[in-house]
Amino acid sequence: MTKTAYTNVNLYDGEQEAVKANSYMVVDDGTGKITAMGTGQAPAADQTVDLANKYVMPGLINCHTHTVNDPSAADGDPTANVVETTVRSVKNLHTFLQSGVTYIRELGSNYDIDITLSRLIAEGKITKVPEILPSGRAYSMTGGHGDTPNFGHAVDSPDEMRKAVRQGLKLGAKNIKVMATGGVMTKNDFMNDPQLSVAEMHAAVEEAHHKGLTVAAHAEGNPGIMNAIKAGVDSIEHGFYVNDEEIDLMLEQGTYLTPTVVADWAFPTYAEGKVPEWEIKKAADALDDLRKNITHAKDRGVKIALGTDAGTPFNDFSMTPVELQLLVEQGFTNYEALRTSVNSAKLLQIDDEYGTLAEGKYADFLVLDENPLADVHAVAQADKAVYKKGQRAY
Ligand SMILES: [Zn+2]
Repeated sequence: MTKTAYTNVNLYDGEQEAVKANSYMVVDDGTGKITAMGTGQAPAADQTVDLANKYVMPGLINCHTHTVNDPSAADGDPTANVVETTVRSVKNLHTFLQSGVTYIRELGSNYDIDITLSRLIAEGKITKVPEILPSGRAYSMTGGHGDTPNFGHAVDSPDEMRKAVRQGLKLGAKNIKVMATGGVMTKNDFMNDPQLSVAEMHAAVEEAHHKGLTVAAHAEGNPGIMNAIKAGVDSIEHGFYVNDEEIDLMLEQGTYLTPTVVADWAFPTYAEGKVPEWEIKKAADALDDLRKNITHAKDRGVKIALGTDAGTPFNDFSMTPVELQLLVEQGFTNYEALRTSVNSAKLLQIDDEYGTLAEGKYADFLVLDENPLADVHAVAQADKAVYKKGQRAY
């Protein structure tokens, strides 16, 4: 196996709040893993890549995506057939990697195609894309958020949930996505509508946890956020109206929060003139509140994960770096914003091999002109180099 040494690196390894000048990283080109790291003279290798004092950081891990969706369609275009949806998803995966995202968790995938795509990627049959932790189709109540064609399992009792989740896990889902509330941009269901019951979601949690897997709950308002936490889910997705009582319980149980601020930000920012004015106002009004609530949760110690809900209206697959900027704008430090990606790796239970750069971990990394710890805008660089398992993809 050949080895490549990357030298003259300004390294942010994802762990320490520091950039180490004059660093090197040696990668086994066969396994794609890092075999040595340090500062000063790099050990002998078969080839050397001089990174000319650019900044290297870990690839981003986005734990909330819908690559099956078309973000230019108000409803994501759920009636596209399975071939159209698959072609779209692969195209979106390429965009994701180019934007700096090296691993995603697909949180609801029409036709369960993410399960097959993740296998094809693992087999090397699709390249220059992030790896996928698949959830398959989502689980909602009849008429609830996610009860849309080709997307949701409609379940209306704990037993129905249990059976549907067992089917999803049998098919190969590695996470379960449940809908605990309505949504901000959907007709006839609202952020504060509680949807699945505590008992229904708890059945999903039991089945997933029995297999060592996780459950993520779409939960925007109250009391649905509390219902999901009480059911024992591993992450609250959105959590826009999270309150102190809920934060207390999240801290006790170790529940993650994935804010997806960019989803609610993109809508009023890019929808002007394309959708009714009242709809834009609704999203813009919610935005100020939710950003305060999320920063408050962070300040109280809730583990914040990086996710964007990419695929929702105007929220495309290049915008993960924008989520980092929005978090900094609302009170996160650059380091806290960058660390949300590491929390995503932990939430996905892949942090032994992904999320930070260290010996034994995969060489998934970005090469930037500027220092991301000094200014997180550096991550958005359009022509950054992106390496996946030691191979330069972009
Ligand atoms: Zn979503």
